[in-house]
Amino acid sequence: MNLKVLIDEERLKRRVKELSEEITEYFEGEELLVVSLLKGAFIFTADLVRLLGLETQVDFISLKSYSGSSKGELRLTCPPSSDLKGKKVLLVDDIFDTGESLEFAYKYLLSKGAELVKSCVLLEKEVEKRVELRPDFVGFKVPNCFIVGYGLDLNEKFRDLPYLACVEE
Ligand code: IMP
Ligand code: MG
Repeated sequence: MNLKVLIDEERLKRRVKELSEEITEYFEGEELLVVSLLKGAFIFTADLVRLLGLETQVDFISLKSYSGSSKGELRLTCPPSSDLKGKKVLLVDDIFDTGESLEFAYKYLLSKGAELVKSCVLLEKEVEKRVELRPDFVGFKVPNCFIVGYGLDLNEKFRDLPYLACVEE
């Protein structure tokens, strides 16, 4: 197995800064609850929130997919600790692939009373989507390879890489 660098540290840093500026402009003057999807989004979230010029709270949720049937069923394994009622939420994930995880989390947050939910993903894979929802803020569009680094894993490995890489067989 081989790792091929897809996005290096410098490019990542620059784009996260740009994203933080887009988000800050969008939510100007508002209090924001950032909800990060574990585990993949932990590094992206940590970098992003430190660049936001907003009054921000941070929370985490975690999903698990059970793939007994043809379509893996998603469940929430770790709920948020904050009260979502009336909150303006930024949902943050690492990668938008089929879209099912982001949509599940989006609907969950609204069902718990969030006033508004906008979503931000570091990566969007150029593949067919299974959902209507599209993320509001996207870092990079990426090809359909398996990506690791900067929080993303392959069987729990490579989350610590400071860059993004494609796994080549
Ligand atoms: P979706 O529900 O198909 O959009 O999948 C999104 C989730 O699958 C992401 O939050 C990741 O945890 C995981 N995932 C999808 N593609 C990759 C990848 O290339 N590398 C690592 N994780 C991935
Ligand atoms: Mg994930």
